[in-house]
Amino acid sequence: MTADTLQIEVQQTSKSRLQEVDFNNLVFGRNISDHMFIAEYRDGQWNDSRIIPYGDLSLSPATAALHYGQAIFEGMKAYKNEEGDVLLFRAIDNWKRLNKSAERLCMPTIPEEIFMNGLTELLRLDAGWVPSQPGCSLYIRPYMFATDPYIGVKPSDSYYFIIFTSPVGTYYAKPPRVKVETHFIRAAEGGVGATKCAGNYAGSLYPAKLAQQEGYDQLIWTDAREHAYIEESGTMNIMFLLDKKLVTPYVSETTLDGITRKSIVAIAQHWGIPVEERRVSVKEIIDGLKDGSLEAAFGAGTAVVISPFATIAYEGVDYPLPEILEDSFVNKVKTYLTDLRTGKVDDVFGWMLK
Ligand code: PMP
Repeated sequence: MTADTLQIEVQQTSKSRLQEVDFNNLVFGRNISDHMFIAEYRDGQWNDSRIIPYGDLSLSPATAALHYGQAIFEGMKAYKNEEGDVLLFRAIDNWKRLNKSAERLCMPTIPEEIFMNGLTELLRLDAGWVPSQPGCSLYIRPYMFATDPYIGVKPSDSYYFIIFTSPVGTYYAKPPRVKVETHFIRAAEGGVGATKCAGNYAGSLYPAKLAQQEGYDQLIWTDAREHAYIEESGTMNIMFLLDKKLVTPYVSETTLDGITRKSIVAIAQHWGIPVEERRVSVKEIIDGLKDGSLEAAFGAGTAVVISPFATIAYEGVDYPLPEILEDSFVNKVKTYLTDLRTGKVDDVFGWMLK
């Protein structure tokens, strides 16, 4: 199957819901655009690529994904430039990461043509749903799940691959208070932490709920062996401005290879800022909070872009972070990423797709 031969049947909605959306008050994930893309895997290949009106699916109660968790997803965004063109940011990397998740979860990979053509056709049809308000974008959710309608622990023979989209505003209203988690873990070596499988998110809900009951917004995950090294924060990669350097845990088997993270690393290097990708101990961060060498700590991810933390809590003590100065790297890189994605600066890295 090539890009030219992939046939996508399109069934357009007879009743667009676009007029019902208040684009000035977008709540993350609440409004779903008019259409969705679907492909079905059976008999060893992907079939029936089509775009249909967004709506309910009819599934067997025995649907394999609901029992044994073969379910993976991606999260990405589309933006509008001043001319009204729809722009995608590093979409190929999301496609690659979905396939990495698929391999680890014993699921079929999705060909580039199906992912990219399905996505671009869907965006062409629902271009009106891409917000142009500052800070807003169209969140894109590609996902795959097992659909065999019988139970038994084994890789499913059939799957759905779906893409739907949702116009979104900004994610966190105010800088979050985060707590270093020293009991629960998100991932362990040999596990599935490097994938975007649904179970990773289910497993993180309970520890996050406990932290919220203690007055924190999010967790900082630490390594499973010693709880001595920092991995990620919530559903974001984590980065620090420490001793005038950008310091971030390296990507490993237990962390997600975040596209925002690697973009920030590339931009910092391009700007000549020293970057260290390495193991980051909880101790050095707490020491940096105490002696003032930690200028900022922030989460980086598609949903939030960059989210500077207000407080880091460790072993019952709250350590406030200094206020982010106007000319801080944190603000500069956030503005630069936003400008890049909305076509306001030259795409020197070759990351954008119109
Ligand atoms: N870590 C986890 C666990 C995530 O779910 C995400 C969001 N995809 C990230 C990091 C950030 O990755 P990205 O920048 O590609 O969104």
